[in-house]
Amino acid sequence: RWAAAAGPRRVLLAAPRSFCAGVDRAIEIVVRALERHGPPVYVRKQIVHNRHVVEELEQQGAIFVEELTEVPAGAVTIFSAHGVGPAVREDAARRGLQVIDATCPLVAKVHAEARRFAARGDLVVLIGHAGHEEVEGTLGEIPGRGVLVENVDDVATLPGDRRIAYLMQTTLAADEAGHIAAAIRRRFPDAEGPRTDDICYATTNRQRAVQAVAGGADLVLVVGSANSSNSRRLAEVAAREGTVAHLIDGPSDIALDWLAGARTVGLTAGASAPPWLVDAVVAELRGLGPVTIEENPVAEETISFTLPLRVRS
Ligand code: SF4
Repeated sequence: RWAAAAGPRRVLLAAPRSFCAGVDRAIEIVVRALERHGPPVYVRKQIVHNRHVVEELEQQGAIFVEELTEVPAGAVTIFSAHGVGPAVREDAARRGLQVIDATCPLVAKVHAEARRFAARGDLVVLIGHAGHEEVEGTLGEIPGRGVLVENVDDVATLPGDRRIAYLMQTTLAADEAGHIAAAIRRRFPDAEGPRTDDICYATTNRQRAVQAVAGGADLVLVVGSANSSNSRRLAEVAAREGTVAHLIDGPSDIALDWLAGARTVGLTAGASAPPWLVDAVVAELRGLGPVTIEENPVAEETISFTLPLRVRS
């Protein structure tokens, strides 16, 4: 437990926080592609869901597009960490694009599971959020053989005459996803789930870490962009601990009235948010008065992923 607040404002740094191995790899792929091929290189969708990361890469010569129709024929094109379905790959091949795939290997693992379940005839139920690129990519792997459920109520709408298998988006809140999976198993006792957790190690660790600091904090700040699923979940997890939590893109989003009476501030960052933004938030808090920093990691992260051949030295 954290000691009682006294004197300077205390900042409880959640650890682990900020970049995960999949985000590190995706950014490295864009940087190396720019070095190797020279600008511009095209990136389909935001490489990771963070405004600062996208802006920094834009300055280095990356051009972010929504769809491949915006990419000149033959150009170097990177697929984002969230993954794409086969239709996008086929489109890229038709247009003669030089594709470098930055799909996180842990997302690719969920794609492989979806194909395995669909190939044996199951209806594949994906627990996730509508409109998220990862969900589009995973369902894109199994056209007509997958269905999205977003909450426990959706489970009642599934057809009763099919064998069901279920999978999860990698960045869900573990507790919520667990409730939905339990509802699926209640209705379909034979439903098979993923072999290993689909919610990735980075999501799980960041949620455990924010939970550990939220209980002892008057306020939790989560650094991350509004379209970042895992960052939004961190704010929700903190709020479920009973602590007011705000998602901020950076220090300029902090409203002074949030800090009134907040002697102990929990601070974390989503897997797509750069570590330097956390430092900038700490500096902002220091500018308002003395601050002590405490950090008690709940897990050690040593995982890293190899780069695709096209950008390996
Ligand atoms: Fe991969 Fe998890 Fe990071 Fe997403 S959050 S890029 S699945 S490691």
